[in-house]
Amino acid sequence: MTDPRSRIPSIDALLATPAAETLVEDLGRAQVADALRNAVEQMRTAIGRGDDETTSSVEESDWYIRQAAALLVAASRPSLRRVINATGVVLHTNLGRAPLAEEALEAMRSAAIYSNLEFDLDEGVRGSRYVHCVRLLRDLTGAEDALVVNNAAGALVLSMSTVGLGRGVAASRGELVEIGGGFRIPDVIERSGASLVEVGSTNRTRPADYEAVVSSSEAAAILKVHRSNFRITGFTEEVSVADLVGIGTQYDVPVVHDLGSGLMLPAEDLRLPQEPTAAESIAAGADAVVVSGDKLMGGPQAGVIVGKAALIGLMRRNPLCRALRVDKVTLAGLEATLRLYANPGRVRERIPTLRMLSLESEALRAVAEEVAGMLTDQDVPCAVVPTKGAVGGGTYPGVELDSWAVELDGPNGTQALANTLRHGSPPVVGRIVDDRLRLDVRTLLPGEHQLVVACVVGAFAADGMHSV
Ligand SMILES: *Cc1c(COP(=O)(O)O)cnc(C)c1O
Repeated sequence: MTDPRSRIPSIDALLATPAAETLVEDLGRAQVADALRNAVEQMRTAIGRGDDETTSSVEESDWYIRQAAALLVAASRPSLRRVINATGVVLHTNLGRAPLAEEALEAMRSAAIYSNLEFDLDEGVRGSRYVHCVRLLRDLTGAEDALVVNNAAGALVLSMSTVGLGRGVAASRGELVEIGGGFRIPDVIERSGASLVEVGSTNRTRPADYEAVVSSSEAAAILKVHRSNFRITGFTEEVSVADLVGIGTQYDVPVVHDLGSGLMLPAEDLRLPQEPTAAESIAAGADAVVVSGDKLMGGPQAGVIVGKAALIGLMRRNPLCRALRVDKVTLAGLEATLRLYANPGRVRERIPTLRMLSLESEALRAVAEEVAGMLTDQDVPCAVVPTKGAVGGGTYPGVELDSWAVELDGPNGTQALANTLRHGSPPVVGRIVDDRLRLDVRTLLPGEHQLVVACVVGAFAADGMHSV
């Protein structure tokens, strides 16, 4: 018998088939030829392995085209793509934090083309990108001025560099936090060109601690950091923004408050525990307040600084501002998000982060039962169970959100099912609890319920086919 390898078609012959010609038209000859070479390699390996079933297709050009097309599809899938968040963690940092409002998406789409980013349409002369969100931020927080940069960490670097370059910045030992991803407040201060002047102790810091270092000119500014991602309880004491402002005013040093979370409405509106807002810090007299755009604000990744006009002006002229500058698409999304806050009656319904946080347990139970019903109709065994979600994004540590989930156990086990769902299109990410996969319905967006059902049905079919 002749070696089956001798019967493998040539790449040129494969490229000449009508099916390959269609692929070449879409993707170019070089890519398709590469994929066909890969398919030929697969055939050679199968022959070497003695895989008779595959070897029986050795002369079928269709077999090679199919393999090549599958490879090309996999290669053309974007690296960064949409995922369905069924984890119940609303601001899931690994899944991109805040999902944006429709209004924000629309604004981002139109700004991505040409825009008046730095062009004054009234006068027909050069304008500034920094004007776009200022009025909205002033109205929302009561601040004199505002500046938007790339993210809150950048906003903090810019603030520290502006108030503390070559000088000391006083910060409480109880607030020298790690924000996440190894990003620590002491390092940020040092890298901004300021030197950290630690005051107080881990659990207790008093006004006199700050006063000692600013009265001696050891520190030229005060930084207060909101402990957003952990709690200290028990024998504790911290100094309020109002008291820090009193000290700052007496010794003429600015007070910067890094709030992080970006909550722009009263926490009780979301039935969440009290969380400080930028408006409160501004009312207490803070010179600058830093918040994140994509945490509780519910907008795109951005760093928002609001505060006194003189200080914000210095920040805008700081050369680092250019390095941290916000992009047009982000600015458009942030502006559209901020605009939604102007209507307090509708903001919770328009901004997905706020809407998800507002959902009540009983309503979620009904949604979970509906999803489970659709799955049962398609012969997928499942149960509806109460579960606990979280706000996420390093906010509200220890706060659990009462929610409901659809619980699943795949034909090949929970891990296999979770794996198949993660590899689906779109990928669905849930949470494994007690060896069962839970899909928490709180974090599903409108219209995703049917999609999740289709993904789960598909995953059950795929796992069932491979089950032993
Ligand atoms: C999250 C957070 C930051 C960083 O915000 P990013 O927008 O992620 O850069 C800074 N400070 C505090 C207190 C935070 O919670």
